[in-house]
Amino acid sequence: MINMKTTYDKGVFIESNNMRILLDPVGIPSKKPDIVLLSHAHSDHARGIWQRQLSNIPKVMSPATRKILEKRKGKSLRNTIEIREGCELDYKDLRIYAASSGHCTGSLQFKLTVKDTDIAYSGDICLEERIILNKAEQLNCDVLILEATYGKPEYVFPKRSNLYRNILKWCKNSIEIFNKVFICCRTLGTAQELTTLLSLSILADPIFTHPAITKINEVHEEFHHRLGRFISYHNTNDIEGVMLVPLNNVFKRNNFNTGVTTGWVIKSKRPGRFPLSSHADFQQLLTYAKNSNAEKIYTVYGFSNSLAREIKERLGIDAQSIK
Ligand SMILES: [Zn+2]
Repeated sequence: MINMKTTYDKGVFIESNNMRILLDPVGIPSKKPDIVLLSHAHSDHARGIWQRQLSNIPKVMSPATRKILEKRKGKSLRNTIEIREGCELDYKDLRIYAASSGHCTGSLQFKLTVKDTDIAYSGDICLEERIILNKAEQLNCDVLILEATYGKPEYVFPKRSNLYRNILKWCKNSIEIFNKVFICCRTLGTAQELTTLLSLSILADPIFTHPAITKINEVHEEFHHRLGRFISYHNTNDIEGVMLVPLNNVFKRNNFNTGVTTGWVIKSKRPGRFPLSSHADFQQLLTYAKNSNAEKIYTVYGFSNSLAREIKERLGIDAQSIK
C-alpha cells in the first residue's frame, strides 16, 4: 500500500504520491489541491466549490450535480470534468472510478487508484433500492473513507417498502379529513422519491411541488428518468391533495395534516413522522465497511467517532474518525 495521509481540511484531503486530492469542499483548505472531486450537490458537501481560489483547479462531478449547482447559483462553474456513474477517467497518475451512491439526483461515490492502492470515498450513500435510484455500489478497496451520518446503533430504519406503505396510508387518511396534506422532505433526495411514490399511487393527481423541489425534479428527469405528474405551486391555499415542501419549511410542521420524512424522526411517536432517509442506517454502514475488505477506514460526517469505535469493536478493522 502507498504512503498516504488523509485528513479533514475544509473537505476530505488526501495527500499521496505527490498528489493532493480534495473531496467535497466546504471552504479553502490550507494547502492547494491538484484536483477537486464532488460527490453530490448538498451544501454540506459542496458549498466550497464556488471559491475563487479553486476556480482554476479541475473539478470532477456528475453532469446532474453540475446542473443543480449552476441552476441554483445562476452561473457556470469553471474547469469542470463531468463523469457518469460506472465510468472511469485518468488524471495524471490518478485513476478515478465513479460508482452509484443511491443518495440523491447526480450523487456518486469515487474509487481512486494511486499506484497499487485503491481508496474509496463513499460521499453520502443509501444502500437500499429506491423507486428512483439504484442503491450504492459496494466498493472494494484498501482504504475506505466512509460517511457516518447515522453512525450510532440506535439509527436503524424500517424497511423501505414498509415506509412507503405507511406514508401512503397516512396520506389517504389525512386527505379524507383535511382535503390537503403537506409532506416535508429533502428538496434534493426524498422529494424526488416521494414525487414518484405519490404519482404511482391513486391518492392525488397531480402532486403539487414547492418551486425549489420542482427545480430539482426537472434536473432528475433530464439525467435519470421521469418522476411522474407534478405541478409547481405558489399559493398553498388554492389547491387540494398532496403537496411536497422542503424539510426546512417549518410553517406547517406541527399541524396534523403535515408529515415529516427524515431519518432523524426515528424516535418520534407522533403520527405522520416517517424515517425515510437518503442515507444508509447504522447496520448498513457496518455491512458496507465489512464488505469493502478495507484494511483502514476513516469515518467522516455525523456520528464519526461512534462509527469508528463500533467498526473497531465489532469488525476488528482499524478505523479512525477525521471529522
Ligand atoms: Zn448528502
